[in-house]
Amino acid sequence: MRDHPSPTPDRSSCPPRGLGRAEAAARAALLDVVSYDLTLDLTTSVETFDSLTRIVVDSRAGDTFLDLKPTAVRSIHLDGMSVDVELLSAGRLPLALTEGRHEIVVDAVMPFRTDGEGLHRSVDPADERHYVYGMCFMDAAPTIFACFDQPDLKAPYTVHVRAPEGWIVRGNGQAENPEAGLWELATTPPLSTYFVTVVAGPYHLVTDEHDGIPLGLSARASLAADLDADADELFTLTRQCFDEFHRLFGVRYPFGGYHQAFVPEFNAGAMENPGCVTFRDPLVFSSAVTRGTRIKRAGTVAHEMAHQWFGNLVTPRWWDDLWLNESFAEYMGVRVTADVTEYHDAWVQNSYARRQWGLVADQRPTTHPVAGNGADDALTALQDFDGISYAKGSSILKQLAARMGDDVFLAGVRDHFDRHRFGNATMHDLLGSWTRAGAVGLDAFAAQWLSTAGPDRLDLDRDGRGVLLRTPPAEHPADRTHRLRLAVSDDGGHWHAHDLDVDAARTEVGALGDGAVLVDPWEDSWAVCPADPRTVAVLPDLLPRMSDPMLRAGAWNALRSGYHNAEVAPDDVVRAALSWLAVETHDAGPETVGPWLLRDVLPLCTDPSDAAERLHLGALSAARAASPGSSLQLSLTQVAIATCASPDRLESWLRAEGLPTGTDLDLELRWRILGRLAGLGAVDRSRLDTELDREPTGVSRVEHTRAVASLPDLAAKEFAWERFTGVTTAPNYEITAAGLGMWRCGQDDLLAPFVERYAADLSRAAAAHSGWVQGDAAAAFFPTTALSQTTVETMTALATDASLPAPVRRRLVDATDQLTRQVAVARRFGRS
Ligand SMILES: [Zn+2]
Repeated sequence: MRDHPSPTPDRSSCPPRGLGRAEAAARAALLDVVSYDLTLDLTTSVETFDSLTRIVVDSRAGDTFLDLKPTAVRSIHLDGMSVDVELLSAGRLPLALTEGRHEIVVDAVMPFRTDGEGLHRSVDPADERHYVYGMCFMDAAPTIFACFDQPDLKAPYTVHVRAPEGWIVRGNGQAENPEAGLWELATTPPLSTYFVTVVAGPYHLVTDEHDGIPLGLSARASLAADLDADADELFTLTRQCFDEFHRLFGVRYPFGGYHQAFVPEFNAGAMENPGCVTFRDPLVFSSAVTRGTRIKRAGTVAHEMAHQWFGNLVTPRWWDDLWLNESFAEYMGVRVTADVTEYHDAWVQNSYARRQWGLVADQRPTTHPVAGNGADDALTALQDFDGISYAKGSSILKQLAARMGDDVFLAGVRDHFDRHRFGNATMHDLLGSWTRAGAVGLDAFAAQWLSTAGPDRLDLDRDGRGVLLRTPPAEHPADRTHRLRLAVSDDGGHWHAHDLDVDAARTEVGALGDGAVLVDPWEDSWAVCPADPRTVAVLPDLLPRMSDPMLRAGAWNALRSGYHNAEVAPDDVVRAALSWLAVETHDAGPETVGPWLLRDVLPLCTDPSDAAERLHLGALSAARAASPGSSLQLSLTQVAIATCASPDRLESWLRAEGLPTGTDLDLELRWRILGRLAGLGAVDRSRLDTELDREPTGVSRVEHTRAVASLPDLAAKEFAWERFTGVTTAPNYEITAAGLGMWRCGQDDLLAPFVERYAADLSRAAAAHSGWVQGDAAAAFFPTTALSQTTVETMTALATDASLPAPVRRRLVDATDQLTRQVAVARRFGRS
């Protein structure tokens, strides 16, 4: 994915470079990999491990190279002959191969990494135990084993692991433990290098079986009780999804057992390694969570399972088609979760949590087509792992299934799996499968929706006969056809759906009256549909009577789209929120709209303190009225805490006094209250340290960091900044928590110098971090609360600095766009 600064025996001055598409194609034309045999010894040191790789290849005659990024190399042999290890340069070992079969053996010392990639090693603060997991995606495999690291050189893997006693080991193949400390993983079907993983440590293990498939769950020992509490739900979801995917895809799960490992300090949500999926371990819930959060986890479980077919059984030939993996897994994940699990309302949660993520990404200057990003290397492709590749891509596939019919959609998918089983394919291969299944007009559909960036905007013109105006993005002209529904309210506050085909710049929709109109609230299409002024005016009266939860989520997406474009006033948003919080029954609403209100909207209200107080009282009142101990109550209580301006009230809640009846004051809720007190300056550092010492878990450390960084004093901001610039090293979650904690509204004078410091220190900060953390840190420490044109200009200039790493510049451009939009709202509605 990107350069790794670990020391290597590399004598060259040029940095390791990412593999380019042309290089990959040339290498794939030259050789087939027959097998990998890996022996990893994790017992030698806490900094490094031994890695012995035997690769068998069939080659045409020619020059190529092996990918290898070790700490040190002991020996390299080609067909038994020693190869000069000094030839290794910039992560590549040149190889001259004659025609025929060859064996390459590399004996190397590899680095344990701490950035969530390669073989990541961490220490659990709760009990000082060490844990390891492998994350090869997208290009970290060469820091674990010597390989030909590209997705279309698949081969079976046989893995042997020597691990400290008391550890368990899991991986892509079924694990056996023939003697103490020795683990043998069964030979796998052909895998791409980016799928290879080993999970090792004193993990707590739970096992089960379904339909002949061995199932497993694991998490670090300090989460054992929490994993046990969640195991039934996780296994049930897994069983239901297997049954449904088998029914839909007509191909059985092909990778043997299915282990789901919850691992520490994981950067992404999860990774679909065949047979051994890795998840971030905050998904093992150690405190009460909302149903919305459970739906999100269920969707992640289903998403990774969908990848076992789409991605793992059939893999993109190159990184430019990775969107297809993600769009497909995202769509199938939500669909299957809604259809066959207890979370039948998964589409509602998806509407609240994912729609704006995708639409906002699609309106950024960095927007890109869903497909055909033209990525020349893994790093470029990774920049596009955003709301477009996930949420928009999922929406487009949902539309496609609706247009061609589900039978044709699934028949095409089955054809695709049949033709490319254990191989690689492209988008055009899939379009070919759909065409064979009977789909028509796919080229036009792909041109409209997959190959062109940016969303259309759909606006109502209520004058005379109602008209829906379609405006494609000026920078990305397109001629799209939308098939969608309008929701129109009548005088009695009832809503009526109107089907509409939008295939011109102006589409007559008939008289609309004076009620509210929501364009595409059920998400049949993909477009920015801001609420028009009349709808904004009447929504607060209508929201309490909207019984369809998708319609309520759609109303919020219309308001949020209007706000994003500086067309809906902050005060109007709060007015709608107040009428809605009292009646919303789905906790995904408060859980996702709440943080947006707090971060973006409240600071720009005419009277922010008054707006926050009204929202606080509204949320608290709704929480008290909600069913005691319910998930809805929890989501409302979270909003009430985050908006509370009274230290006395927060302190009483910390004593478990006065909280809504049924609320469990668990670790997570305690830290929410402490974090709010910290932001108000109503606790000091020593109090937060004492709270950390009470229960020093991984969760506590992250929340302690966030709370400390929120304190309104310079020492706290310096504490955060040291984590940004790398003066203090910290685990990845704590780095981002420090950044997200430090920028607090109402601390403007204290924070003002950090705008210039961000510009001055960004390059140094980028150099201090590697892997995904580099971009995450740049985004987390961005001065989000410094709302001024000067900040916008400083950041715009900074983003032109070509010496900054591409992921950092990308995050900078996006964050600057967000800031620009906030400044526009402030200017339009009188707060600047
Ligand atoms: Zn995915």
